[in-house]
Amino acid sequence: MEIVSVIGSGTMGRGIAYTSAAAGFTTYVQDISEKALETCRSYIEKQFNRAVEKGELDREAADAAINRIRYTTQLEEAAKDADIVIEAVLEIMDLKIEIFKQLDKIVKPSAILATNTSTMSPTEIAAQTSRPDRCLALHFFNPVPRMKLIEVVCGLETSEETIERSFEFGKALGKECVKINEFPGFATSRMNCLIGNEAMNMVMEGVGTVEDIDKAIKLGLNHPMGPLALADLVGLDTRLRNMEYLHKTLGEKYRPCPILVKYVKAGRLGKKSGKGFYNYN
Ligand code: NAD
Repeated sequence: MEIVSVIGSGTMGRGIAYTSAAAGFTTYVQDISEKALETCRSYIEKQFNRAVEKGELDREAADAAINRIRYTTQLEEAAKDADIVIEAVLEIMDLKIEIFKQLDKIVKPSAILATNTSTMSPTEIAAQTSRPDRCLALHFFNPVPRMKLIEVVCGLETSEETIERSFEFGKALGKECVKINEFPGFATSRMNCLIGNEAMNMVMEGVGTVEDIDKAIKLGLNHPMGPLALADLVGLDTRLRNMEYLHKTLGEKYRPCPILVKYVKAGRLGKKSGKGFYNYN
């Protein structure tokens, strides 16, 4: 694989693009929003500059990686030469299906189409294409440059060859891969969403302050970060969509906490909007 295409340049897309370019892949990033692409470009350049300052990369390598990334609003330009496409748009099934249908017409026959969905069925998305054997979910974690894992989630028709190539790709990115058979929320999100939702219920019940609940989970249960800070990092809108899908597919225990619903209605989306469970301004 030489050319990677990332569709959607938000929280996850920009991290995947950074990691891909840093690993030596020519990387296209596509978004329908010029503003999102600009934010993505400045985030990526800042991350490379920070890596140089920390002595993790020399200036020449960072500049070469920055120059390996192409930004575009055109799906065809982003995907036509790609060996693998990673879709990282909003967690909305109809949107993902629409993009996969378009990609199926654009990409090379050998190209792999991957979705970065946190919860949804790659089988359902793949079924709308002519290449379900070359479709799967590659679930990256936030922040992508730092998080080691990729869940390689196989749909019903995903071929062994596609799984093998995805593992090789993950290794080339410096990640560890696990093979997971499709089920809503895979191995990680169904667990993580429950922990986060329970923490939100505890806030609502007055069990403790946001800070103290996070501190208790960090220091008492040895989590690297508190579940409320993590939800803010993920984006509360994204987390709510994850919960709604899991509630629909796995049942009552995934009912989104009313506080989460209320915050999203108010535009409190976490770190990306400046305010969620914490205030970032
Ligand atoms: P986000 O809201 O930060 O970014 C989504 C981006 O998609 C935006 O820039 C938006 O402009 C763009 N977009 C919307 N419609 C588009 C289209 N038709 N074509 C191209 N771009 C389009 O979302 P995110 O947090 O990066 O999540 C993306 C995906 O990754 C979701 O499926 C989510 O569940 C999954 N995910 C998120 C996290 C996380 O921590 N945020 C972690 C793992 C997986």
